[in-house]
Amino acid sequence: MSSPIPDAVEVAVIGAGPAGLTAALVLGRQKRTVVLVDSSQPRNAPATEMHMYLGLDGRSPKDLRRTGMEEVAGHPNVEIVHSTVTGIEVTGPDTPVSLATSDGRSFLAERLLVTAGVRDDVSGIPGVVERFGQGVYHCPFCHGHEVDGRRLAVLTDAPENPAQPGLQAVYLATHFSRDVTLLTNGHPVPDEIRETLARNGVGLEHRPVTELGGTDGALTVSVGDEELTFGAVFHTPREQPRDSVLGLDLETEGAHILVDWQQRTSDPRVFAAGDCARRRDDPVPLAFVARAVAAGQAAGLWIDQDLFRAQAGLG
Ligand SMILES: Cc1cc2nc3c(=O)[nH]c(=O)nc-3n(C[C@H](O)[C@H](O)[C@H](O)COP(=O)(O)OP(=O)(O)OC[C@H]3O[C@@H](n4cnc5c(N)ncnc54)[C@H](O)[C@@H]3O)c2cc1C
Repeated sequence: MSSPIPDAVEVAVIGAGPAGLTAALVLGRQKRTVVLVDSSQPRNAPATEMHMYLGLDGRSPKDLRRTGMEEVAGHPNVEIVHSTVTGIEVTGPDTPVSLATSDGRSFLAERLLVTAGVRDDVSGIPGVVERFGQGVYHCPFCHGHEVDGRRLAVLTDAPENPAQPGLQAVYLATHFSRDVTLLTNGHPVPDEIRETLARNGVGLEHRPVTELGGTDGALTVSVGDEELTFGAVFHTPREQPRDSVLGLDLETEGAHILVDWQQRTSDPRVFAAGDCARRRDDPVPLAFVARAVAAGQAAGLWIDQDLFRAQAGLG
């Protein structure tokens, strides 16, 4: 039995990355009315390959997105809106959540799921952002295997944890390359990792980096009046919250919305999953496609259960 989608829905989902698409699939299969709004800026868009995802390892992230969209679109009770959520209003406990989009539509939803991901604040050094995901990599788990044996560098640029770039360099040296350089970019190397760097053969380049050039496999790094060549450069950007979640009055930590084991936020009608969310009992949030899929599945299931209990009068 199918019916036209009203602008009043049971669930509104912000973001059709792996988390939002999976949640929409679960909810669609349970015959919930859903609106899934997406602005087409998934976090891994710069990457041509996706790794560590069983069944699709090495394929384009676009393949997963396209297939996911097709599967979700197969449910007439789910409407996919290609737009940006520009306003969210969460008022009294018994009032639906209200949503406005940049193309002038508005929705009322009994439950809201935020799967908007995070924004990567990539280094402003010229040439870095253009190569992010293609030559400049953020994660040795997602991309280390593909650069095995190359001459590698780790770029330091205002890291959240001063020891992180050095530790990443040591990690790469113990897994993928005997030729790893830590580009300190003028930042001091924390004393506690100096000896570890030396013991693992990591080279140090202290001069400020002024520019990156070249292509994946043959990147150039300008320091002083010299140009160094590397097969790949690792750089961990700072994670920032997406604008869409900034207006929400939810408990957060850094870029993340805190959730419980059911993916529920500090507001009982609002759930969050994927990179934008972090379980309260999770000491380190891991941001991977498979994790986003799993969290999206859990969110879809628990939102459905929450609505079921309310609608069946189970309290
Ligand atoms: C360069 C790069 C490569 C990566 N490679 C890998 C890899 O190989 N393997 C792996 O496991 N992980 C990889 N990751 C991590 C992976 O991309 C994320 O963990 C995953 O995308 C998280 O999924 P998500 O659904 O939470 O968010 P996202 O995939 O970021 O999706 C969020 C969606 O929400 C939408 N959105 C945001 N705000 C709004 C709004 N206001 N209105 C409407 N829509 C909105 C966005 O447009 C986007 O489509 C990589 C990350 C990066 C940066």
